[in-house]
Amino acid sequence: MDLSGDVSGVKNLNLAYRGRFAPSPTGKLHLGSLFTAVASYLRAKSRNGQWLLRIDDLDGTRARSESIDSILIDLEKMGLCWDESVYYQSQHLQDYERALNILRQRENIYPCICSRSDIQNLSTDGLKYPGTCRTKNISSSELQALRIQVPNVTIRFKDLLHGHFEQNLSLDIGDFVLRRRDGFYAYQLAVVVDDRLQHITEVVRGSDLLDNTPRQIWLQQLLGYTTPDYLHIPLLMKNNKNKISKSTSETLLDLNSPRQLAIKILRLLNQPISADLEEGTLEEIWREATLHFDINRLPQSPITIPS
Ligand SMILES: [Zn+2]
Repeated sequence: MDLSGDVSGVKNLNLAYRGRFAPSPTGKLHLGSLFTAVASYLRAKSRNGQWLLRIDDLDGTRARSESIDSILIDLEKMGLCWDESVYYQSQHLQDYERALNILRQRENIYPCICSRSDIQNLSTDGLKYPGTCRTKNISSSELQALRIQVPNVTIRFKDLLHGHFEQNLSLDIGDFVLRRRDGFYAYQLAVVVDDRLQHITEVVRGSDLLDNTPRQIWLQQLLGYTTPDYLHIPLLMKNNKNKISKSTSETLLDLNSPRQLAIKILRLLNQPISADLEEGTLEEIWREATLHFDINRLPQSPITIPS
């Protein structure tokens, strides 16, 4: 597929809403990931759109095929049917490489041998990369990441829930990684290519990724891709204020009662639930929830789930 410039037909595709859910197959579907799945599903269906499934199996050391199977089975049990065939990141390595090569021709992409602790020591805030390796001569035999030099530019966008958001790439972020030390493509590059290849018109995902978005918009601009709309939904937190990121006793899904689970998620999303709806079948619940889905009702702040 052509990764540079607009492919023909993109205009027509843009008329139709295309959203996606992109879980990492590092474990079972849990309350946090199901929450994102339902929000993106209802948003897509309420816009008469397509809801696509992408498996974030780029990191082969963490991704497990049994996790992939269980995620697909659990989504089916929840009655969340995706459109088109499942998109696996592991099948698109050549597409990421092609995009990296296009960027290489236009921007300064350089090897970096810093470890995480090096960066923590070097950086003033422990996070921002200070460009240490930009001018170093690094032998190709050393284990190295590839970073892209960012300009002193402010990227602005309007999130559908959080409103205006902006970030200066060089002051707030610093040069960032496109290919990791272990050889895997970085999330920032892969997600931009994936959204392009799947013709995604709106990204619905957790608000922990809000501050990743300007980097991705900048990459889209460099590659000549259309920028989708963004809706960052609140994170589900445990009582200890940690994001729910894996299956634990509190976040394990009881898939023997998918209807109750659906109602629970709708409550967390602050969507209207009629008394009839609680008695409905799973299909009826999703149909009604789609009909009444309202992003203006979504909470903006993180939601703490009762333990
Ligand atoms: Zn470095």
